[in-house]
Amino acid sequence: MSQELICITCPIGCHLKVEVLGAGEVQVEGNRCPRGAAYAREEVLSPKRVVTATCRLRREPQAGVQASLTAPRRVPWRTTGPFPQERVAELLALVSGIEVETPVVRGKILLSNVLDTGVDVILTRSLS
Ligand code: SF4
Repeated sequence: MSQELICITCPIGCHLKVEVLGAGEVQVEGNRCPRGAAYAREEVLSPKRVVTATCRLRREPQAGVQASLTAPRRVPWRTTGPFPQERVAELLALVSGIEVETPVVRGKILLSNVLDTGVDVILTRSLS
């Protein structure tokens, strides 16, 4: 069974026709360069995506300062690169158990080499 994809590796956006032949073999047509074949192969055999979500935030109470009712209760995060799609639920379950304390600095690594994928999870917002 063939599949149609658009290569997103460069702005040309070649229309690819991809057929999985079995045993990890993939036939690709319509690509203008080898990067398109590599993209199609990964997309059909082991797709990856940058993952974004939020995790719980705990604010340390400050003496004499009343906590704002509108202050964010969660902080956003993302993976530093494409993450295996079939393991996203595992990643979300892992991060859902984490509570980050203020102050939070954007770019701080929350999890390094998460689930042995070589990808980090970083915070994407600074909060005091
Ligand atoms: S196949 Fe090559 S030329 Fe075509 S969109 Fe992909 S990277 Fe660009």
